[in-house]
Amino acid sequence: MSCIENKTKPAASAEENGRDFNPFDVMEPRAPLKTPADRKNGKHVKANDIPPQGVYLPNNNILAPHMKSPEYVQLSTAAAITLGIMGGRMYGCECTRCLNLLLTYPEGCRANCAYCGLARHREAERDYADRNFIRVDWPAVPMADIIDIVAKDPASSPFHRMCISMITHPRSEDDTFTVLKQWTDRIDPDAIPVSILSNPTTMTRADVQRTKDLGADIFTVALDAATPELFDRTRGKGVQSPHKWSKYWEIMLEARDIFGPQKFGAHIIVGMGETEYEVLNLVQELVDLGGHSHMFCFFPEQGSLMDHLPATPRDQWRRVQLARYLLDYRGARVEQMRFDELGRVTDYGIPASELADIIDAGIAFRTSGCPGKFQDDISACDRPYGDSPPSDIASYPFQPGKKDLKRIRKQLDIPVTLE
Ligand code: SF4
Repeated sequence: MSCIENKTKPAASAEENGRDFNPFDVMEPRAPLKTPADRKNGKHVKANDIPPQGVYLPNNNILAPHMKSPEYVQLSTAAAITLGIMGGRMYGCECTRCLNLLLTYPEGCRANCAYCGLARHREAERDYADRNFIRVDWPAVPMADIIDIVAKDPASSPFHRMCISMITHPRSEDDTFTVLKQWTDRIDPDAIPVSILSNPTTMTRADVQRTKDLGADIFTVALDAATPELFDRTRGKGVQSPHKWSKYWEIMLEARDIFGPQKFGAHIIVGMGETEYEVLNLVQELVDLGGHSHMFCFFPEQGSLMDHLPATPRDQWRRVQLARYLLDYRGARVEQMRFDELGRVTDYGIPASELADIIDAGIAFRTSGCPGKFQDDISACDRPYGDSPPSDIASYPFQPGKKDLKRIRKQLDIPVTLE
């Protein structure tokens, strides 16, 4: 079992409740509670004023040191293990291929997205540097230390890509530019390309352009919710969060213009209450614009406003994963696919033998994201166990083997033909 397995007990699954998808009316986030005044805006952490001392592992102590970007960033547990900053092993993978970095501040992210472990409402119970995000801990490390390690030999680094994730904070743009410049000053972006996971709410076209000028290769927008209604419920007015669907689209279209085809995209979480038809229609729209979709399977993150809700049933997830791969990489179109009255995929619109070959190749079920150095449809961003436990994998951070494919076919309800 992986050292990064989170001990959270997930909510009862939709399968246990007799459903094979997560419907809109069930996936209602709970309302955020009021934060006590002495914990608002990182007051509690700042009052302690403990100077940062090198690497900070979450839960080292309850009062996180006063660390902030651009001097400090947080990085995924998988990236910390790969860099040698933390010990441990990951089930099925030797390393991660993406160095995922998060900007960090004692006040944390000022947005309140319902599915997110970094959301603002959590300041009532947990310091920012101790919060889990996509199921794992994110140690805080001086940016200079990370660069020193990678700059020794970028060409033979295990990392095929670096990604800076912005959060919602007044300093987020300036600090992204600084972190990006520090990196590209010492590490050739041709050796390790850089992606930006943006925060459109506070960005302008000039900001998008600046990331490109400083050497970023791909620019993505975390739409996360697949419809405007779901967006508003999970990241906008519904949870006292500042994000707007229209602003996210505005910045994504700027990125399309500035970065060009295949160099922009959107993150989408599957299973938050949208139908399979709705999410695949969005994927098609992105393909038609020249972009890509990066998919996440909804998992009830501990401490989030959706931690009482069921994870996405594997059958819903597999159908969407397979259909999205066909749209993104095999030239299929959503109009050729068929859906039932609940919006579930009933036909992928390609011949059965072709579909069988694509399933058996297994790539459709790997984690999706920005490409690495192996091939275009294999993501560098493998996010080991970011959307599921290793015992019931949603996005495979490694090439699925025969046993995995047998299981996947069962989840897809497509007869097993493997020897
Ligand atoms: S803006 Fe991003 S980091 Fe902040 S709460 Fe929303 S999803 Fe989480």
